[in-house]
Amino acid sequence: MVVRMRRNRSQTAKRRSHHAIAGARLAKCECGALRVPHRACPECGKYNGKIVIDVVARAKRDARRATRKQKELRASGQSSETKEKEEVAAK
Ligand SMILES: [Zn+2]
Repeated sequence: MVVRMRRNRSQTAKRRSHHAIAGARLAKCECGALRVPHRACPECGKYNGKIVIDVVARAKRDARRATRKQKELRASGQSSETKEKEEVAAK
């Protein structure tokens, strides 16, 4: 590097003074929860006053998937319950 191009500590620090990441700007939803602007609220599923996400259906679906995953883990013998039983048996 040519001396002409060399940056001193002061110039580097001045450049890096703008590198800090600012916190996310959150807006308050009409339901009271904090949400990302220009995105539907994950709590109530509303955007601009209209319901765009069926929150209840989504919660039901997630619960159903969780129970199914638990069942599959239990069937394959990898659930935490069976591991605990094995640990007890080993002692
Ligand atoms: Zn909301």
